[in-house]
Amino acid sequence: MNAFVDPELCIGCTQCAGLCPAVFRMEGVLAVAEPGPIPPEEVPQAVTAAQSCPVSAIRIEE
Ligand code: SF4
Repeated sequence: MNAFVDPELCIGCTQCAGLCPAVFRMEGVLAVAEPGPIPPEEVPQAVTAAQSCPVSAIRIEE
């Protein structure tokens, strides 16, 4: 699974980076997702972060 942040939607609230720092980090005022597959043990937190994003900017795909 891979995570993506839509920079057009992200409002830089930092929540995803707080919930799942292994996958999401702030780059300037916006969040970015680490490239490449999400480590299996991080998938639950990454999904939680995606579901918690207030503007639904995070996409997680197979
Ligand atoms: S939770 Fe959503 S809006 Fe907040 S920093 Fe992450 S991607 Fe951006």
